[in-house]
Amino acid sequence: MIIHTIKELRELVKNWKKEGLTVGLVPTMGALHNGHLSLIKKSVEKCDKTVVSVFVNPIQFCPGEDLEKYPRTLEADEKLCNDAGVSVVFAPSPKEMYGEGHILSNDFLTYVVPPFFYTDKLCGKSRVGHFDGVCTVVNKLFNIVQPDFAFFGEKDRQQLIIIKKMVKDLNIPVEIIPCPIVREESGLALSSRNNYLSENGKKEALVLNRILFNIKTCYNKGIKDVKLLTETAYSFLNENHTLEYLEFRDKNNLEEKKVADNNTIVFIAVRVENVRLIDNIEL
Ligand code: AMP
Repeated sequence: MIIHTIKELRELVKNWKKEGLTVGLVPTMGALHNGHLSLIKKSVEKCDKTVVSVFVNPIQFCPGEDLEKYPRTLEADEKLCNDAGVSVVFAPSPKEMYGEGHILSNDFLTYVVPPFFYTDKLCGKSRVGHFDGVCTVVNKLFNIVQPDFAFFGEKDRQQLIIIKKMVKDLNIPVEIIPCPIVREESGLALSSRNNYLSENGKKEALVLNRILFNIKTCYNKGIKDVKLLTETAYSFLNENHTLEYLEFRDKNNLEEKKVADNNTIVFIAVRVENVRLIDNIEL
């Protein structure tokens, strides 16, 4: 079933709650692939009812990003959700979410702004305001769906950490369930943005997980010094790669690490064919 309005979804959820059923939410921007599907499967397994939201959220895109060309495949998404046992696909329009004329600047819209310490680094550095847009829409979805559980991928690890922080700081009554990164057989982390890459670009994109898995191997052999571990990355890079960041940070609060330990996540972002790709690994 697909629902486009907040009102209809609220009615439905109200009835589920009356019956004492548990509700899982999987927020997505659509163009669903096996990465999304792993979150959906987890929710369907764990919860009586699962809502998958499909919404390309305009306020999390920065000027010059791919808001217009972001893939939109609602019909296929709905079919995939139906086959996976999803109760409802919630696919609102921007107008439904943000109102008439949807004036999206923070002069006119109430934003949920996560702490600067979490957003001034990694993806937040080049995508200024991105996580404000993410937290605002996720908070709205939480208010609309009132889920017991919400499922987020470790693929977007900074996002996951920020959402957990928001839920804790704002006492939102939902449990966040992290889900592991799903990769192609080649090792490439699945992403809707992989569709922008040529066949050769996809090969070049393997550099992200090569660097990460090599760092993990070195770490397992006993190298803990972050400078040394970082140096192992450079031999993998060529003129087809623009490294945006390679950073070692704490898995709970994103503090920088100088010496890697078991609470360390290695984060990487690389541009290939001008497509910005991200990946990460836990040490
Ligand atoms: P998106 O549609 O890109 O906003 O992603 C929706 C959710 O799916 C987010 O929680 C992502 O972290 C998650 N996700 C996307 N790709 C993957 C993947 N390859 N493995 C696991 N989760 C993913």
